Amino acid sequence: MTNTNPGKKDVDSYKIKRTKKIVQQGDCVLMRPVDPKRLPYVARVEKLEADSKNNVKVRVRWYYRPEESLGGRRTFHGAKELFISDHYDWQSARTIEGKCIVHSFKDYKKLENAGDDDYFCRFEYKAATGDFNPDLVAVYCKCEMPYNPDDFMVKCEGCKDWYHPSCLKMTIEDAKNLEQFICSDCPLDDDA
Ligand SMILES: [Zn+2]
Ligand SMILES: [Zn+2]
Repeated sequence: MTNTNPGKKDVDSYKIKRTKKIVQQGDCVLMRPVDPKRLPYVARVEKLEADSKNNVKVRVRWYYRPEESLGGRRTFHGAKELFISDHYDWQSARTIEGKCIVHSFKDYKKLENAGDDDYFCRFEYKAATGDFNPDLVAVYCKCEMPYNPDDFMVKCEGCKDWYHPSCLKMTIEDAKNLEQFICSDCPLDDDA
């Protein structure tokens, strides 16, 4: 009896073709979509394996873009928002075209200049049901929406809630020029 198993072995890293970038376990990568008009897929590399011909395959955990989720993109979703899903696959490492960084929401908000390769994730997404975890998040403003880091908001010095200038019928410029803002629900301080 001969062993016909093609002898897979774990590998530590993979160099992205025509680049100097090295992919390792835990890295977030951009993968070439089948349809070149689409945005690249984003995934986290869980494991790397090579077959006897040294073809590397990666076990990936997919990130979903809001438009790829069952509920679609909502107004509070940031342009660079991703959901970490419960959907895993094996993919050829050759489809990896770049690396990216998926920040926590907290870290992303602190970035001075988010670059093309910076994304953030604040929700886990169940691909089969479309459910999110957490399913409840803090909401702000009169519109009672979760925070979208792409949108400028102004803070009320009274209730400490945050507001979209547009929901206050104000321009962003007006809001930026305010010395302090008190919302219509908060009593005005006469001494101020
Ligand atoms: Zn609002
Ligand atoms: Zn207020």
